[in-house]
Amino acid sequence: MRIVVVEDEVKIAQAIKRGLELKGYAVDVVYDADSGLAHAVDPDYDLVILDRMLPGSMDGTELCRRVRAEGGSVPILMLTARGTLGDKVEGLNSGADDYLVKPFSFDELTARVKALLRRPPHHVGTAMKVGDLSVDTATYKVKRGEQDIKLSSKEFSLLEYLLHSQGRVVTKDMIITHVWDGDALVLPNTVEVYIGYLRNKIDRPFPERPPLIHTLRGFGYKLGEQA
Ligand code: CA
Repeated sequence: MRIVVVEDEVKIAQAIKRGLELKGYAVDVVYDADSGLAHAVDPDYDLVILDRMLPGSMDGTELCRRVRAEGGSVPILMLTARGTLGDKVEGLNSGADDYLVKPFSFDELTARVKALLRRPPHHVGTAMKVGDLSVDTATYKVKRGEQDIKLSSKEFSLLEYLLHSQGRVVTKDMIITHVWDGDALVLPNTVEVYIGYLRNKIDRPFPERPPLIHTLRGFGYKLGEQA
């Protein structure tokens, strides 16, 4: 899943980027409110981490309001140095989904990010399912039936995106956009390679069960029990 961090403190922004990338997310950073707004309404992003105090023509709260006013439904996690109750309420009223007070622990940030990314389509607790494949985004546990499957962080990230798009066809471009960040040089062939890795782990070892990853030639890929 792809995240944009809107934060003018370069050290904090870069630390968040590095940390979340280690967890398998694709992360881009922008440092002012105006580019923040442009990114937050861009459907390429699955989550926005937004600092409250920003240089530019608006603060984080106003940015949030404008995203919602334009119909943007991307989950927004707001960061702030101030932690009074009034600030929290104002942040949430402006359309933020969650709120984190600086300084925060990286574990807490990650936990909130995961919770926000799970919110939308299909989930029971922290697990997402397709057929007999279950994926727990809190513990990174992947199972087909009772069998544990070990994935690299990029493979996990690809699977998580396919799960969010379950039943729909996703193109290679969509996969590149949501699984890799703007700094990465990714060719369509790279997507084929990673889809291959994933297939080797979730479909090939289970020949007696229906395959879950389907290739629609000329269109893209689909995750589901049926092609
Ligand atoms: Ca700031």
